[in-house]
Amino acid sequence: MSLGVILGYIAGVIVALVAANRYQLWRLPKPASWPRLLMYHSIADEAPTGMNTPPEKFDAQLAWLKKQGYDFCTVSELLTTSKSKAIAITFDDGFANNYHNAFPLLKKYQAKATIYLAPEIATIDKLSTAQITEMQDSGLIEFGAHSMTHINLLQTATDPARQEIIGSKQQVEALTGHACLSFAYPFGRFSDETVELVKAAGFVSAVTTKKKIIANLMAQAFTIPRISTHGAMDGLQFYVAVSRGRYKF
Ligand SMILES: [Zn+2]
Repeated sequence: MSLGVILGYIAGVIVALVAANRYQLWRLPKPASWPRLLMYHSIADEAPTGMNTPPEKFDAQLAWLKKQGYDFCTVSELLTTSKSKAIAITFDDGFANNYHNAFPLLKKYQAKATIYLAPEIATIDKLSTAQITEMQDSGLIEFGAHSMTHINLLQTATDPARQEIIGSKQQVEALTGHACLSFAYPFGRFSDETVELVKAAGFVSAVTTKKKIIANLMAQAFTIPRISTHGAMDGLQFYVAVSRGRYKF
């Protein structure tokens, strides 16, 4: 072998290693039988960020998941499903654009999803009662709770934290006319005490922002990890995220 061939070979290996690290391909795919949860927030024709995914990208991601044979469940359904390739799409906060931009695409693919509402969040354009009612009536959407005001529960005293948790459950039930069974910790922040408050409020599950895929959701029903998304992730990053639980951005 000439020196040129050897150097070329070494360069090839380096490129492959950089690509593998870039896309976290060294992580092994989790079994298809393990349920997946994906976390989104805003779906809007705005700059792609960790909080916003453009509608065309969300469309492409749903199309890819459908093509791969994923079965779209609500979070409550995901807890007890025995189906392989089960996935729950989740949206936090309750952006009005979930109705305008995500809901038409969810209907297009007949994909179920779960929206975690913070009924008194002040910083976003929220879903209206009429929009929530229409989405609830479609049978595609489960509504969960995300505290009343989107407060950091780790920095809140016990009594007000309890009120934020119970109040959001009651308000979501009043908005939808259905039992509110799942909670999402605002900012992904929680302690053992937060978990106990959520259990005592009567929720059946709670989701976090820990980036992981686990085998048995029931074994940690109040600390369920989710796969995070970013509006600018490419197709390979999305594939790595869905198969491994996290990707490098
Ligand atoms: Zn949130």
